Amino acid sequence: MPPIQEELRRRTRLTRPQVRIRRAEVVRTAEVTARIRRVTVGGEDLAGCAEGGLPADAWKFLLPPDGRGPVHLPVVGPDGMPGDEPGAVPPVMRAFTVRRFDPVAGELTVDVLLHAETPASVWARSAAPGDLVGLAGPRHEFFASPEAGWHLLAGDEAALPAVAAILESLPAGTAVVALVEADDEADRIDLPTAAAAEVRWLYRRGAPAGDSGLLEKAVRGLDRPFAAAQAWIGAEAGAVRSVRRHLLDERGLPRPQLQAAAYWKQSLTSDQRDIEVFTAYQAAVAAGGDPDDPALTTEADLA
Ligand SMILES: Cc1cc2nc3c(=O)[nH]c(=O)nc-3n(C[C@H](O)[C@H](O)[C@H](O)COP(=O)(O)OP(=O)(O)OC[C@H]3O[C@@H](n4cnc5c(N)ncnc54)[C@H](O)[C@@H]3O)c2cc1C
Repeated sequence: MPPIQEELRRRTRLTRPQVRIRRAEVVRTAEVTARIRRVTVGGEDLAGCAEGGLPADAWKFLLPPDGRGPVHLPVVGPDGMPGDEPGAVPPVMRAFTVRRFDPVAGELTVDVLLHAETPASVWARSAAPGDLVGLAGPRHEFFASPEAGWHLLAGDEAALPAVAAILESLPAGTAVVALVEADDEADRIDLPTAAAAEVRWLYRRGAPAGDSGLLEKAVRGLDRPFAAAQAWIGAEAGAVRSVRRHLLDERGLPRPQLQAAAYWKQSLTSDQRDIEVFTAYQAAVAAGGDPDDPALTTEADLA
Protein backbone atom coordinates (compact mmCIF):
# COMPACT_ATOMS: atom_id res chain seq x y z
CA MET A 1 0.00 0.00 0.00
CA PRO A 2 1.25 3.51 -0.78
CA PRO A 3 2.38 5.95 1.87
CA ILE A 4 0.12 8.88 2.70
CA GLN A 5 1.73 11.38 0.28
CA GLU A 6 1.37 9.09 -2.74
CA GLU A 7 -2.23 8.12 -1.96
CA LEU A 8 -3.34 11.72 -1.39
CA ARG A 9 -1.82 12.62 -4.78
CA ARG A 10 -3.72 9.77 -6.45
CA ARG A 11 -7.02 10.65 -4.75
CA THR A 12 -6.61 14.33 -5.59
CA ARG A 13 -6.30 13.36 -9.24
CA LEU A 14 -9.44 11.17 -9.00
CA THR A 15 -11.63 13.67 -7.19
CA ARG A 16 -9.90 16.72 -8.67
CA PRO A 17 -12.08 19.48 -7.32
CA GLN A 18 -14.29 20.62 -10.15
CA VAL A 19 -14.79 24.28 -10.73
CA ARG A 20 -18.17 23.95 -9.11
CA ILE A 21 -19.76 25.84 -6.29
CA ARG A 22 -22.43 23.81 -4.52
CA ARG A 23 -25.29 25.63 -2.83
CA ALA A 24 -26.44 24.53 0.60
CA GLU A 25 -28.58 25.85 3.43
CA VAL A 26 -27.98 25.74 7.15
CA VAL A 27 -30.22 23.01 8.59
CA ARG A 28 -29.35 23.21 12.29
CA THR A 29 -26.64 24.31 14.72
CA ALA A 30 -25.53 23.03 18.11
CA GLU A 31 -22.98 23.82 20.80
CA VAL A 32 -20.13 21.31 21.10
CA THR A 33 -18.16 23.34 23.67
CA ALA A 34 -18.27 27.03 24.58
CA ARG A 35 -15.72 27.63 21.77
CA ILE A 36 -16.92 25.13 19.15
CA ARG A 37 -20.17 25.52 17.21
CA ARG A 38 -21.49 22.63 15.13
CA VAL A 39 -23.19 23.66 11.88
CA THR A 40 -25.05 21.23 9.62
CA VAL A 41 -25.83 22.25 6.06
CA GLY A 42 -27.93 20.39 3.51
CA GLY A 43 -29.46 20.51 0.09
CA GLU A 44 -29.74 18.69 -3.22
CA ASP A 45 -26.39 20.03 -4.38
CA LEU A 46 -24.66 17.94 -1.73
CA ALA A 47 -25.51 14.69 -3.52
CA GLY A 48 -22.28 12.85 -4.31
CA CYS A 49 -20.25 15.00 -1.91
CA ALA A 50 -18.74 12.01 -0.18
CA GLU A 51 -17.73 10.09 -3.33
CA GLY A 52 -14.04 9.23 -3.07
CA GLY A 53 -14.04 10.85 0.35
CA LEU A 54 -11.38 10.28 3.00
CA PRO A 55 -11.34 10.98 6.75
CA ALA A 56 -10.79 14.68 7.56
CA ASP A 57 -11.65 15.89 4.05
CA ALA A 58 -12.18 19.65 4.09
CA TRP A 59 -14.46 21.94 2.09
CA LYS A 60 -14.21 25.65 1.51
CA PHE A 61 -17.36 27.35 2.73
CA LEU A 62 -18.31 30.52 0.88
CA LEU A 63 -19.62 32.90 3.53
CA PRO A 64 -20.77 36.52 3.74
CA PRO A 65 -17.67 38.77 4.05
CA ASP A 66 -18.35 39.91 7.61
CA GLY A 67 -19.86 36.56 8.61
CA ARG A 68 -23.47 37.71 8.64
CA GLY A 69 -26.08 38.81 6.16
CA PRO A 70 -26.79 37.36 2.73
CA VAL A 71 -24.00 35.70 0.75
CA HIS A 72 -23.67 36.42 -2.96
CA LEU A 73 -22.48 33.18 -4.53
CA PRO A 74 -20.64 33.21 -7.85
CA VAL A 75 -22.66 32.33 -10.93
CA VAL A 76 -21.41 30.24 -13.86
CA GLY A 77 -20.71 32.42 -16.89
CA PRO A 78 -20.87 31.50 -20.61
CA ASP A 79 -17.28 30.21 -20.41
CA GLY A 80 -18.36 27.65 -17.78
CA MET A 81 -16.34 29.42 -15.08
CA PRO A 82 -17.88 30.82 -11.90
CA GLY A 83 -17.68 34.59 -11.45
CA ASP A 84 -19.23 37.31 -9.30
CA GLU A 85 -22.35 39.09 -10.50
CA PRO A 86 -21.75 42.76 -11.31
CA GLY A 87 -21.96 44.83 -8.13
CA ALA A 88 -22.16 41.79 -5.83
CA VAL A 89 -19.85 41.74 -2.79
CA PRO A 90 -17.85 38.52 -3.22
CA PRO A 91 -18.01 35.93 -0.42
CA VAL A 92 -15.05 34.95 1.76
CA MET A 93 -13.87 31.33 1.74
CA ARG A 94 -13.07 29.40 4.92
CA ALA A 95 -11.95 25.73 5.14
CA PHE A 96 -13.82 23.40 7.48
CA THR A 97 -13.40 19.67 8.05
CA VAL A 98 -16.21 17.21 7.42
CA ARG A 99 -17.25 15.82 10.79
CA ARG A 100 -20.12 13.88 9.31
CA PHE A 101 -21.75 13.41 5.92
CA ASP A 102 -25.19 11.85 5.81
CA PRO A 103 -25.79 10.72 2.22
CA VAL A 104 -29.46 9.88 2.84
CA ALA A 105 -30.38 13.27 4.27
CA GLY A 106 -27.81 15.03 2.07
CA GLU A 107 -26.35 16.77 5.12
CA LEU A 108 -22.79 17.80 5.90
CA THR A 109 -21.68 18.75 9.41
CA VAL A 110 -18.70 20.88 10.43
CA ASP A 111 -17.38 22.09 13.80
CA VAL A 112 -16.25 25.70 13.80
CA LEU A 113 -13.86 27.22 16.35
CA LEU A 114 -15.12 30.52 17.78
CA HIS A 115 -11.84 32.37 18.31
CA ALA A 116 -12.60 36.07 17.69
CA GLU A 117 -14.87 38.44 15.73
CA THR A 118 -13.76 36.90 12.44
CA PRO A 119 -15.97 35.97 9.48
CA ALA A 120 -15.97 32.24 10.31
CA SER A 121 -16.60 32.79 14.03
CA VAL A 122 -19.33 35.38 13.48
CA TRP A 123 -20.99 33.18 10.86
CA ALA A 124 -20.96 30.06 13.05
CA ARG A 125 -22.30 31.97 16.07
CA SER A 126 -25.19 33.50 14.15
CA ALA A 127 -25.93 30.76 11.55
CA ALA A 128 -29.65 29.98 11.41
CA PRO A 129 -31.74 27.44 9.47
CA GLY A 130 -32.28 28.60 5.90
CA ASP A 131 -29.05 30.65 5.63
CA LEU A 132 -27.39 30.12 2.25
CA VAL A 133 -23.73 29.07 1.91
CA GLY A 134 -21.56 27.89 -0.97
CA LEU A 135 -19.23 24.89 -0.88
CA ALA A 136 -16.12 24.15 -2.95
CA GLY A 137 -13.91 21.10 -2.69
CA PRO A 138 -13.06 18.64 -1.38
CA ARG A 139 -9.46 18.76 -0.22
CA HIS A 140 -8.00 15.48 1.04
CA GLU A 141 -5.97 15.51 4.23
CA PHE A 142 -5.56 11.97 5.50
CA PHE A 143 -5.14 8.39 4.36
CA ALA A 144 -4.13 5.58 6.71
CA SER A 145 -1.53 3.42 5.03
CA PRO A 146 -1.95 -0.09 6.47
CA GLU A 147 1.84 -0.36 6.35
CA ALA A 148 2.30 2.30 8.98
CA GLY A 149 3.72 0.83 12.19
CA TRP A 150 2.00 3.57 14.16
CA HIS A 151 0.41 6.97 13.62
CA LEU A 152 1.28 10.36 15.04
CA LEU A 153 -1.42 13.04 14.96
CA ALA A 154 -0.51 16.55 16.09
CA GLY A 155 -3.03 19.37 15.92
CA ASP A 156 -4.45 22.47 17.57
CA GLU A 157 -8.12 23.48 18.00
CA ALA A 158 -8.56 24.36 14.31
CA ALA A 159 -7.49 20.82 13.48
CA LEU A 160 -9.43 19.20 16.32
CA PRO A 161 -12.32 18.24 13.97
CA ALA A 162 -9.73 16.57 11.72
CA VAL A 163 -8.09 14.73 14.62
CA ALA A 164 -11.54 13.57 15.78
CA ALA A 165 -12.49 12.37 12.27
CA ILE A 166 -9.17 10.56 11.81
CA LEU A 167 -9.40 8.83 15.20
CA GLU A 168 -12.96 7.72 14.42
CA SER A 169 -11.81 6.25 11.12
CA LEU A 170 -8.80 4.22 12.29
CA PRO A 171 -9.32 0.45 12.43
CA ALA A 172 -9.43 -1.37 15.76
CA GLY A 173 -6.04 -1.86 17.30
CA THR A 174 -4.17 0.71 15.17
CA ALA A 175 -1.43 2.26 17.28
CA VAL A 176 -1.80 6.03 17.43
CA VAL A 177 -0.48 8.90 19.52
CA ALA A 178 -2.65 12.02 19.26
CA LEU A 179 -1.29 15.32 20.57
CA VAL A 180 -3.94 18.04 20.79
CA GLU A 181 -3.13 21.64 21.72
CA ALA A 182 -5.99 23.62 23.26
CA ASP A 183 -6.46 26.49 25.65
CA ASP A 184 -7.68 24.54 28.68
CA GLU A 185 -9.91 21.68 29.87
CA ALA A 186 -13.04 23.49 28.64
CA ASP A 187 -11.90 22.80 25.06
CA ARG A 188 -11.84 19.04 25.57
CA ILE A 189 -14.20 16.90 23.54
CA ASP A 190 -14.72 13.16 23.48
CA LEU A 191 -12.55 11.49 20.88
CA PRO A 192 -14.12 8.07 20.31
CA THR A 193 -11.96 5.54 18.48
CA ALA A 194 -11.51 1.80 18.05
CA ALA A 195 -7.77 2.40 17.66
CA ALA A 196 -5.22 1.77 20.38
CA ALA A 197 -4.95 5.49 20.99
CA GLU A 198 -2.93 7.49 23.44
CA VAL A 199 -4.48 10.97 23.44
CA ARG A 200 -2.56 13.80 25.13
CA TRP A 201 -4.12 17.23 25.64
CA LEU A 202 -1.62 20.08 25.80
CA TYR A 203 -2.95 23.25 27.43
CA ARG A 204 -1.74 26.79 26.73
CA ARG A 205 -3.65 28.16 29.72
CA GLY A 206 -4.20 31.64 28.35
CA ALA A 207 -0.99 31.96 26.32
CA PRO A 208 -1.64 33.06 22.73
CA ALA A 209 -2.47 30.36 20.20
CA GLY A 210 0.12 29.76 17.52
CA ASP A 211 3.48 30.12 19.23
CA SER A 212 3.25 28.08 22.41
CA GLY A 213 5.74 25.48 21.16
CA LEU A 214 3.66 22.81 22.92
CA LEU A 215 3.26 20.49 19.95
CA GLU A 216 6.98 20.52 19.10
CA LYS A 217 7.93 19.96 22.74
CA ALA A 218 5.55 17.00 23.00
CA VAL A 219 6.82 15.46 19.76
CA ARG A 220 10.42 15.91 20.90
CA GLY A 221 9.50 14.01 24.05
CA LEU A 222 8.24 10.95 22.16
CA ASP A 223 10.51 7.93 22.34
CA ARG A 224 9.30 5.90 19.37
CA PRO A 225 10.63 4.48 16.08
CA PHE A 226 9.80 7.26 13.60
CA ALA A 227 11.05 5.41 10.51
CA ALA A 228 7.95 3.21 10.77
CA ALA A 229 5.54 6.04 11.57
CA GLN A 230 2.93 7.85 9.55
CA ALA A 231 2.66 11.41 10.80
CA TRP A 232 -0.09 13.99 10.30
CA ILE A 233 0.21 17.60 11.46
CA GLY A 234 -2.44 20.33 11.27
CA ALA A 235 -2.03 23.57 13.22
CA GLU A 236 -0.77 27.15 12.96
CA ALA A 237 1.83 27.51 10.17
CA GLY A 238 4.83 28.17 12.43
CA ALA A 239 3.96 25.28 14.74
CA VAL A 240 3.55 22.93 11.77
CA ARG A 241 6.85 24.08 10.27
CA SER A 242 8.83 23.37 13.44
CA VAL A 243 7.27 19.93 14.03
CA ARG A 244 7.73 19.02 10.37
CA ARG A 245 11.41 20.04 10.37
CA HIS A 246 12.04 18.10 13.57
CA LEU A 247 10.43 14.93 12.20
CA LEU A 248 12.24 15.07 8.84
CA ASP A 249 15.64 16.35 9.94
CA GLU A 250 16.10 14.93 13.43
CA ARG A 251 13.86 11.84 13.61
CA GLY A 252 14.42 10.35 10.16
CA LEU A 253 10.74 10.22 9.25
CA PRO A 254 10.60 9.48 5.49
CA ARG A 255 8.92 12.45 3.78
CA PRO A 256 6.30 10.33 1.91
CA GLN A 257 5.01 9.21 5.33
CA LEU A 258 4.29 12.77 6.47
CA GLN A 259 1.30 14.99 5.75
CA ALA A 260 1.77 18.48 7.19
CA ALA A 261 -0.62 21.37 6.57
CA ALA A 262 -0.94 24.85 8.03
CA TYR A 263 -4.57 25.21 9.14
CA TRP A 264 -4.09 28.92 9.78
CA LYS A 265 -1.32 31.47 10.03
CA GLN A 266 -0.78 34.15 12.65
CA SER A 267 -1.66 37.68 11.52
CA LEU A 268 -3.01 36.56 8.15
CA THR A 269 -6.64 36.07 7.22
CA SER A 270 -7.53 32.93 5.33
CA ASP A 271 -7.99 35.06 2.18
CA GLN A 272 -4.47 36.49 2.48
CA ARG A 273 -3.15 33.00 3.07
CA ASP A 274 -4.91 31.62 0.01
CA ILE A 275 -3.05 34.18 -2.11
CA GLU A 276 0.26 33.35 -0.42
CA VAL A 277 -0.25 29.59 -0.87
CA PHE A 278 -1.45 29.93 -4.49
CA THR A 279 1.61 32.02 -5.35
CA ALA A 280 3.90 29.38 -3.81
CA TYR A 281 1.97 26.64 -5.67
CA GLN A 282 2.34 28.42 -9.02
CA ALA A 283 6.07 28.81 -8.45
CA ALA A 284 6.41 25.12 -7.55
CA VAL A 285 4.47 24.04 -10.68
CA ALA A 286 6.56 26.40 -12.83
CA ALA A 287 9.64 24.70 -11.35
CA GLY A 288 8.37 21.34 -12.63
CA GLY A 289 6.21 20.14 -9.73
CA ASP A 290 3.23 17.84 -10.29
CA PRO A 291 0.13 20.11 -10.35
CA ASP A 292 -1.92 17.32 -8.72
CA ASP A 293 0.48 16.90 -5.82
CA PRO A 294 -1.36 18.21 -2.74
CA ALA A 295 2.02 18.68 -1.07
CA LEU A 296 2.69 21.55 -3.48
CA THR A 297 -0.14 23.45 -1.87
CA THR A 298 0.19 22.25 1.69
CA GLU A 299 3.96 22.25 2.02
CA ALA A 300 5.09 25.00 -0.34
CA ASP A 301 5.13 27.53 2.47
CA LEU A 302 6.38 25.16 5.17
CA ALA A 303 9.80 24.33 3.73
C1 LIG B 1 -7.82 21.80 5.51
C2 LIG B 1 -8.31 22.72 6.63
C3 LIG B 1 -9.37 22.31 7.44
C4 LIG B 1 -9.83 23.15 8.48
N1 LIG B 1 -10.86 22.73 9.26
C5 LIG B 1 -11.35 23.54 10.23
C6 LIG B 1 -12.47 23.16 11.02
O1 LIG B 1 -13.07 22.10 10.83
N2 LIG B 1 -12.91 24.03 11.98
C7 LIG B 1 -12.28 25.23 12.22
O2 LIG B 1 -12.72 25.98 13.09
N3 LIG B 1 -11.22 25.61 11.48
C8 LIG B 1 -10.75 24.81 10.49
N4 LIG B 1 -9.69 25.20 9.73
C9 LIG B 1 -9.03 26.48 10.04
C10 LIG B 1 -9.82 27.69 9.51
O3 LIG B 1 -10.10 27.53 8.14
C11 LIG B 1 -8.97 28.95 9.76
O4 LIG B 1 -8.69 29.07 11.13
C12 LIG B 1 -9.63 30.22 9.24
O5 LIG B 1 -8.65 31.22 9.18
C13 LIG B 1 -10.76 30.70 10.12
O6 LIG B 1 -11.32 31.86 9.54
P1 LIG B 1 -11.73 33.14 10.39
O7 LIG B 1 -12.72 33.88 9.54
O8 LIG B 1 -12.12 32.73 11.76
O9 LIG B 1 -10.38 33.98 10.53
P2 LIG B 1 -9.60 34.80 9.37
O10 LIG B 1 -10.41 35.94 8.88
O11 LIG B 1 -9.09 33.82 8.35
O12 LIG B 1 -8.36 35.36 10.23
C14 LIG B 1 -8.51 36.49 11.10
C15 LIG B 1 -7.42 36.44 12.17
O13 LIG B 1 -7.65 35.32 13.00
C16 LIG B 1 -6.47 34.53 13.09
N5 LIG B 1 -6.90 33.11 13.17
C17 LIG B 1 -7.39 32.32 12.20
N6 LIG B 1 -7.65 31.09 12.66
C18 LIG B 1 -7.31 31.09 13.97
C19 LIG B 1 -7.33 30.10 14.98
N7 LIG B 1 -7.74 28.84 14.76
N8 LIG B 1 -6.90 30.45 16.23
C20 LIG B 1 -6.47 31.73 16.49
N9 LIG B 1 -6.42 32.70 15.56
C21 LIG B 1 -6.83 32.38 14.30
C22 LIG B 1 -5.69 34.85 11.81
O14 LIG B 1 -4.29 34.64 12.00
C23 LIG B 1 -6.03 36.30 11.60
O15 LIG B 1 -5.15 37.12 12.34
C24 LIG B 1 -9.21 24.41 8.68
C25 LIG B 1 -8.15 24.82 7.84
C26 LIG B 1 -7.71 23.98 6.83
C27 LIG B 1 -6.58 24.45 5.95
